[in-house]
Amino acid sequence: MKTRGCYIWAMPPIIALFDIDGTLLRAGGAGRRAVELALGDVLDDLDGPVSLESVEFAGRTDPWIVRTALTQYGVTAEDGLIREVLRRYVAHLPRELEIATAFEVLPGVLSLLAELSARDDVILGLGTGNTEGAAYAKLARGELDSFFSFGGFGSDHSDRAELLRAGLERGLERIGARAERADVVVIGDTPYDVAAAQAIGAHCVAVSTGGYDGPALEAAGATLVVSDLCATAVRSAFERSAAG
Ligand SMILES: [Mg+2]
Repeated sequence: MKTRGCYIWAMPPIIALFDIDGTLLRAGGAGRRAVELALGDVLDDLDGPVSLESVEFAGRTDPWIVRTALTQYGVTAEDGLIREVLRRYVAHLPRELEIATAFEVLPGVLSLLAELSARDDVILGLGTGNTEGAAYAKLARGELDSFFSFGGFGSDHSDRAELLRAGLERGLERIGARAERADVVVIGDTPYDVAAAQAIGAHCVAVSTGGYDGPALEAAGATLVVSDLCATAVRSAFERSAAG
């Protein structure tokens, strides 16, 4: 039903914002290698290949990772340089994804996305530290890209709560709803996802298929913690009594 340009929902819609790495898929190190190659392109006077083994990737945003890496190499992380490294990273990524033998779509992901996308009261979005280009490259490698048409990305903001907010705004625009008329469920794999979800007043389903175990995700304050997205319990986060 539509009146004066706004949809009137019988029930508030649920906006789902999915993290990518460790939640929907594992990129098999392709992201890290592509960032290393991008840094190698812009850094002079290196003794050997760039190695980012000591930089934390899980739950971090792409601009944060690049800023940290540049600093580690003693380079002033100016915004223009970060943008250039990110641009080169997205250019290197498809090839690295193609040759990543350890790439995998995580258990239960395909059936959960298919199930949720069939519902007319749930809209699927992304809430990821990946830049938009990197996000869709990774999803395409796993044939998951067609499930998503909007999100909040590392290219929107280096702060995870802010990029989730951007994703939520886009979801609300999409359905013509006001913030107070939607329920938001964030699905992620790290305490950073949980904290960012809390910052925007969203429920958070945390899945321990990334680098963090169940107790760590519970301690962070996740609404629900599951061992993988096959879990029946995940569906309960999209029931009205839980999300309402
Ligand atoms: Mg993640």
